[in-house]
Amino acid sequence: MARVYNFSAGPSMLPESVLNRAAEEMLDYNGTGQSVLEMSHRSKAYEPIIYGALDLFRQVLNVPENYKIIFCQGGASTAFAAIPLNFMNGSRQADYVLSGQFSTKAYKEAQKYGDVTAVASSKEQNFSCIPELDKSKFNPNADYFYICQNNTIYGTRFTELPDTGNVPLIADVSSCFLSEPMDVSKYGVVYGGAQKNVAPAGLTVVIVREDLLGHERPETPALLNYKLLSDNDSMYNTPPCYSIYMCKLVLEWIQSIGGLEALKARNEKKASILYDFIDSSNMFHNPVKKSDRSMMNVTFVTDSDELNAKFVSEAAAAGFVNLKGHRSVGGMRASIYNAMPVEGVEKLVEFMKEFEKNN
Ligand SMILES: *Cc1c(COP(=O)(O)O)cnc(C)c1O
Repeated sequence: MARVYNFSAGPSMLPESVLNRAAEEMLDYNGTGQSVLEMSHRSKAYEPIIYGALDLFRQVLNVPENYKIIFCQGGASTAFAAIPLNFMNGSRQADYVLSGQFSTKAYKEAQKYGDVTAVASSKEQNFSCIPELDKSKFNPNADYFYICQNNTIYGTRFTELPDTGNVPLIADVSSCFLSEPMDVSKYGVVYGGAQKNVAPAGLTVVIVREDLLGHERPETPALLNYKLLSDNDSMYNTPPCYSIYMCKLVLEWIQSIGGLEALKARNEKKASILYDFIDSSNMFHNPVKKSDRSMMNVTFVTDSDELNAKFVSEAAAAGFVNLKGHRSVGGMRASIYNAMPVEGVEKLVEFMKEFEKNN
């Protein structure tokens, strides 16, 4: 069967050239006569893969020297607990912005560990926008200030970071990692599950300012202790070896197409093709506040649930799959991560135009 255009929110598309390369190397990686899937993480053959991936991540994202990059497991959801365990260690207070389901889950998890405040929430607006932030409500004694930078389910994103003064900003960037350049020095910690934009599932990438490490709570499990993981070069125990290898291939692909600046231009182009059409359509609309629209997850609806369902099923039959919105919001969502080619979005828009004409 021909490959489809996969608009899944995650796990999601990977660049075709990366998949081809992985296929070519599947049975014999670099003349070792082994697959990466079979290799010891402590072998001479594997070493350049993990160190290469860590180095490339630093290069591609321009991560400053005083930040550690950690490859671990457990997904973003495990970090919801690891973050308070590692960083809620002074006043044991933290501020959270509730801009969707994932930040709400992170907030609830953190409540187990200390005095956590929701400084703003857009729940009343069905998370269709980033909530207004009132700086006077920020707790200057908080151990950290937490946001989810791109809200995968609702299709919103922070376009401006909150000014948290000396309080370290911690951001879940699962669904916008490596989609554009970012100034890592503005954050204390950025982290994300890899399965949206970076690699297959199984790998979580955590980038931490060095001085924040080593103050974890005594009860922190070893495998959630970021200092311990970092000191062991992300190999305290067996890392997600194959996902790390795929991550390296994805980073090489990003470099080959001109790095994050080039990727940003491509991602902006894809998003504007889709949003421009939705804005001009009489059938489809985007339920999100315009200034907060995500570049990665584009949500849209028609006025009827029936028509939404018909659209999703006819689109799938035409080779545009996984367009159904998250079960908690309904409607449609096109996740147009890095690996989605411009052509995929152009063809989707042609299909939407046809559908509108015929219905
Ligand atoms: C997908 C996602 C998560 C959950 O990730 P898991 O790896 O499944 O734990 C958390 N935050 C955001 C922003 C996501 O997109």
